Amino acid sequence: MKDRVLINISKERMQTLFNEAENTENIALARRYIRLMEKIGMRMNISVNTSIKHSYCKHCKTPYKNPGIKLKNKMVQVRCPYCGEIRRIPFKK
Ligand SMILES: [Zn+2]
Repeated sequence: MKDRVLINISKERMQTLFNEAENTENIALARRYIRLMEKIGMRMNISVNTSIKHSYCKHCKTPYKNPGIKLKNKMVQVRCPYCGEIRRIPFKK
């Protein structure tokens, strides 16, 4: 029972951290929030929300702001504006 409460609190904290990361203009700070969020997830053994996972670059841990998005063969191609990493996400309707 206690674990469930802890997991819920951790999930909330992760969401809050991601919101902060998205809202800040400071890229270094945003990256710190994302790393912290991943750490909490790892420690609590919680996977990051899929919607959150697709909203930041796995390579440089920066939230996507104005990423280059391309549609290609039912895949969304997202290009990170910061490190240039290209990511392909299956396109679901
Ligand atoms: Zn990147």
